[in-house]
Amino acid sequence: MSDTIADPETDATATYAVDPALARRLTQRIVASPRAETYAPVAPATGAPVAVIPTSTPDDVQVAVDAARAAQRSWARRDLADRARRFLDLHDRVLDAQSDLLDLIQIENGKARAHAFEEVLDVAMVARHYARRASSYLKPRRRQGAFPVLSQSVESHLPKGVVGIIAPWNYPLTLSVSDAIPALIAGNAVVLKPDSQTVLTALRALELFRDAGVPEGLVQVVVGEGPVVGAELVQRTDYVCFTGSTHTGRLVAREAASRLVGASLELGGKNALYVAEDADLDRAAEGAVRACFASTGQLCISIERLLVHEEVADAFLDRFLGRVRALRLGPAMDYSVDLGTLTSQRQLDAVRRHVDDAVARGAKVLAGGRARPDLGPFFYEPTVLDGVTPQMTCYGEETFGPVVSVRRVSGDDEAVRLANEGEYGLNASIWTRDVARGRRIAARLYAGTVNVNEAYAAAWASVGAPMGGMRASGLGRRHGAEGIVKYTESQNVTVQRLLGFGPPLGLGYERWAQVLTVLVRLLKRVGVR
Ligand code: NAD
Repeated sequence: MSDTIADPETDATATYAVDPALARRLTQRIVASPRAETYAPVAPATGAPVAVIPTSTPDDVQVAVDAARAAQRSWARRDLADRARRFLDLHDRVLDAQSDLLDLIQIENGKARAHAFEEVLDVAMVARHYARRASSYLKPRRRQGAFPVLSQSVESHLPKGVVGIIAPWNYPLTLSVSDAIPALIAGNAVVLKPDSQTVLTALRALELFRDAGVPEGLVQVVVGEGPVVGAELVQRTDYVCFTGSTHTGRLVAREAASRLVGASLELGGKNALYVAEDADLDRAAEGAVRACFASTGQLCISIERLLVHEEVADAFLDRFLGRVRALRLGPAMDYSVDLGTLTSQRQLDAVRRHVDDAVARGAKVLAGGRARPDLGPFFYEPTVLDGVTPQMTCYGEETFGPVVSVRRVSGDDEAVRLANEGEYGLNASIWTRDVARGRRIAARLYAGTVNVNEAYAAAWASVGAPMGGMRASGLGRRHGAEGIVKYTESQNVTVQRLLGFGPPLGLGYERWAQVLTVLVRLLKRVGVR
């Protein structure tokens, strides 16, 4: 890397610290006994402890769910408009408090500030969207009854009750609270289990929920090991919104299925970006850099495979590699760096394992390829690999770090075939000047979101449209109508008038069956749906 900004004179440990009084205030919201076990996560940028965090027990999860359930009853009785308006207020509060939130995200996760800002933006946009659109998504609707005029059906949406949200550490603000917003507007309570690495960010955001008028008690927070506290939450709640790895998602799905409660699962990916021969190469190179290295590559929808049309591969790579090599990597609590650190030793080990394995089997490093302990314990350079083959771990496994492979392709057919390889189906990006061609290619891809002439943000930030994974990338969707309807039970209330379904007095079953046969034929003939 040419342009790192490690400054040995700066005491990074001091800037990546949380005021102990703030940490105490925030952690009081965790449902845990006064004698709870504690732990101290470290700031990834420095390796220094952040705060002392109490952990919840399985009994605490029950306490949290009971309290949430009690608060939910009166919340669900309020008008939807009354519930929703608080989230317009939340929108403003999140933007106003962004400095606090960005600090906490950076301290707990280690990403660059620009990437942390995407999380603030996401929460604000999701809050605005559902505050304004929930009433139309959930409006009771008249439906075609069995017999026109006689059967009057209305479909309405009742809240599930208590929604369990289990979140990972990579987008600690967005993934902890954005999914809670539609759940709450729909009339549910929420019990949230943030990842143990990134608890304070979620807790600070929930203070803003309270300030915006979300009743105390309606959102509960439990903290602890996933297989203990997360698993208990799956056992106790009425619906589970899980974001994390495909491996854990399968476990959650199994448990939810055995209880017959619903679950949405937002899981991993091995996303591809295709540069067609007619693409604007400067824009594509800029977009590809963001696509591959946003949040240090620890982003479910980030790109780990570049498929470049052979006619423009050299020209694209010139532009792309120039930008990658110029990225500024380092710790900084402001906007002066482009890339932050990986979040943990586990992530660093996984990235190293993938790159070292690829190199040992013959891949060529076009950029990066090294850890940077001089910058902080878990820093790793943005890395571009050429010649990655199916024998290499990083060919099909999600790396979840700043590592991308490049492959030359002969055209759309080969790009589609390669993009669709493997078990995932989360996100894809296509660069072409011909938008109709982009749409045609998109229709052939197994990917829940496809960005044409953008990296990942366009589809994600279009919160009116559903977002989620196909195949092993998940089940269900966030955003749009699906992102709120999933937190409800549809109820069909049909009022039968004048004539019932049984034979009228004096008419035998046989005669009645003949009458109904005529009637049903008539309904078809006159076009009843
Ligand atoms: P993970 O599955 O290990 O953990 C995610 C959450 O699940 C954590 O809160 C964890 O404590 C909890 N958990 C762990 N075991 C559990 C269990 N048995 N029961 C219930 N909860 C349990 O995932 P991770 O490694 O922390 O996160 C990274 C993964 O998340 C990547 O694969 C990434 O692609 C994926 N991800 C997906 C999306 C999406 O929207 N599709 C978004 C972000 C991250």
